[in-house]
Amino acid sequence: MDPILEMLDDVLADVAPLTDGAIADYIPELASADPDQLAFAVVGPRGRVISTGDDRAEFTIQSISKPFVLALALRERGRETVLRTVGVEPSGEPFNAISLEDVTGRPANPLVNAGAIATTSLIEGDTEERTGAIVDILSAFAGRSLWIDESVYRSESETGHRNRALGHLLRSYDIIDGVVDDIVEAYFRQCSVLVTVRDLAVMAGTLAFGGVNPVTGHRVVSERIARDVVSIMASCGMYDSSGEWLLRVGLPAKSGVSGGLVAVAPSQFGVGAFSPRLDDHGNSVRAAAVVERLSEDFGMHLLEIHETISEPAISVERVDGGVTVRLGGELGFAGAERVLSVLKDAVRADVHVTVDARDVARLHPAAASLLRARLDVDPGSLTFLE
Ligand code: GLN
Repeated sequence: MDPILEMLDDVLADVAPLTDGAIADYIPELASADPDQLAFAVVGPRGRVISTGDDRAEFTIQSISKPFVLALALRERGRETVLRTVGVEPSGEPFNAISLEDVTGRPANPLVNAGAIATTSLIEGDTEERTGAIVDILSAFAGRSLWIDESVYRSESETGHRNRALGHLLRSYDIIDGVVDDIVEAYFRQCSVLVTVRDLAVMAGTLAFGGVNPVTGHRVVSERIARDVVSIMASCGMYDSSGEWLLRVGLPAKSGVSGGLVAVAPSQFGVGAFSPRLDDHGNSVRAAAVVERLSEDFGMHLLEIHETISEPAISVERVDGGVTVRLGGELGFAGAERVLSVLKDAVRADVHVTVDARDVARLHPAAASLLRARLDVDPGSLTFLE
């Protein structure tokens, strides 16, 4: 049996007995979900998706759509326009709180409902065009064509008075312009897109790998946009339990009311998890437990020491009239510093130095400029191959 799948099955078995929490019941489609469903999936940099549990179960994406629509708004409108419309501070309040910033009327962040509605308003077009663009980007993140569950959408729309009220409040502050109903309907539709845990893992993976979908290989958003979205997930993704989540789990994440959860381990993996029973904050109890276990077992806490500070691969070879220094692996700032100190010890001023960085899998821009700045002192005696 696949050793990774074996590890995942162990996590599933440990988490399965948890029965705390309650299923969302504000619409019949959510209330009738089987509360015992449990599944999760992970995807690594080479695009292998591994899943366990009820991994074929489809459920609506709900609030997990918010960071991905934020990515679209950043791509279409740019960071400054987005920041004028919505803040990036944790609200410390429930997801559907009726609270906007004093004076400006900006919602606290794009991951609470008010902020998500404001973010959706930034996507151009009428309800249909907006919805089309949103379903397209969610599909690009997932690597397959996703669909809207029409009956969930109708129920969301029939019961969504609070979200409509938030929309009108935002309109009264001129945070959003256009027809409030069109915007709110597009928001209800984005919440009603059907996904599986495998889809969620790939969506999270696309953020984890700098905007490139690890399965399709397609770039969905720029590395900077992916970083912006993940940053906001880190501070605001778990509503009013975001602080405790960062402490215990340390992975940027986003939950949804149907029981889904995505978590991002930058450069390492994307996770999607699902189980319908929710805690008091509206986060899935067992999906959160799964991610907490994975973070622990795989040593993925964001603020933990990671391997980028380990020894870079350096080989120094003396050749006729000089020295060739071959670099490999991944080179970040700390690694570049190490390379420089090795060079200082190995190289005399009067020899020609060839630095061969062609095998470096990823040369971080900070490492490249540090190397160049220090090595360029006497350019006549240096060849830098990258
Ligand atoms: N459709 C839900 C709402 O807007 C989504 C909220 C959520 O998933 N937390 O109320």
